Amino acid sequence: MDINQLVRKNVQKLTPYQSARRIGGNGDVWLNANEYPVAPNYQLTEQTLNRYPEAQPQQVIDSYAQYAGVNPEQVIVSRGADEAIELLMRAFCEPDTDTVLYCPPTYGMYQVSAETLGIKTKTVPTKSDWQLDLEGIKQNLDNVKLIYVCSPNNPTGNLINPEDIKALLNLVKDRALVIIDEAYIEFSPNSTVVSWLNDYPHLVILRTLSKAFALAGLRCGFTLANKPIIDALQKVIAPYPLATPVADIATQALSKEGIETMRLHVTNLNNQKEKFAKQLSALPIVEKVYPSESNYLCVKFQSNKEVFSKLWHEGIILRDQSKSIGQNGFVRISIGTEDECDAVITALKAIK
Ligand code: PMP
Repeated sequence: MDINQLVRKNVQKLTPYQSARRIGGNGDVWLNANEYPVAPNYQLTEQTLNRYPEAQPQQVIDSYAQYAGVNPEQVIVSRGADEAIELLMRAFCEPDTDTVLYCPPTYGMYQVSAETLGIKTKTVPTKSDWQLDLEGIKQNLDNVKLIYVCSPNNPTGNLINPEDIKALLNLVKDRALVIIDEAYIEFSPNSTVVSWLNDYPHLVILRTLSKAFALAGLRCGFTLANKPIIDALQKVIAPYPLATPVADIATQALSKEGIETMRLHVTNLNNQKEKFAKQLSALPIVEKVYPSESNYLCVKFQSNKEVFSKLWHEGIILRDQSKSIGQNGFVRISIGTEDECDAVITALKAIK
């Protein structure tokens, strides 16, 4: 019996998420997934694991609300921001009619989640400066329920102009939600649009502990929105999305000391980023290092140099962005430790 025939038609066409770790990258230096390069030093406290955890651990919710400057009723916590991307579709999109819109090049999971659920997608590419094409979006709003905008944008590193976000919010009032994915916002903290939640009932903000908080292995993310949206997400989220040890570490990360540690991470990383960007810019094979408000750099190399695959074979795992950006030579490099960045520079200098 061919089990594949029983699998949902749209799922038959999918491939599993292709992270470099999953496809067997054999690296010493991992700069492909925008993780913070140094592990924080949290210890698990005593756990009661025979009981289910709290569905929405109150201490985590309260701490995050305080950190983000919102009310606890405006917060839901999930298994990473990735789960939240999908929960929004499950709660708001009618299969077969509703459409999700996003603006490539951008984060891949908006497409993956929609395809997994069999929800239609529409893309309106960003303009040549990687800002929103508001006119293009306006022409493509039929049946659009959710619009995903990533700021700072992955993989390009730029912020989306706040005036454009405001214009988008005003454009789609009463017909669609605008989701601002702020996974990297701690690296550019003054750029958050969280204070707009009071004025825009259809604004949603996604956050995570995976980046500046250095806890990608924890799988803990947050959605910030007004109560009717949070209530809808509560209806579709798994009964116990956060394991007890996850809530324990998240609580520590969101304590006063935890937040100070995160701010130190941001300072260190932004300093290293500035130094690394200068070193990269000085290399002859580099055509452009794009300004970044995030914890990675989007770099355009001379397209015939095959930088991504050459470094891959040396155990330095970067992220090839040629396909997503639609031009050869684009590579995204997460900011690593000083040693890791030095290893990249040394390897690049050897390419003739
Ligand atoms: N949004 C963006 C833009 C991301 O880059 C990522 C992680 N790569 C996520 C969301 C997902 O974050 P999490 O680890 O919390 O699922």
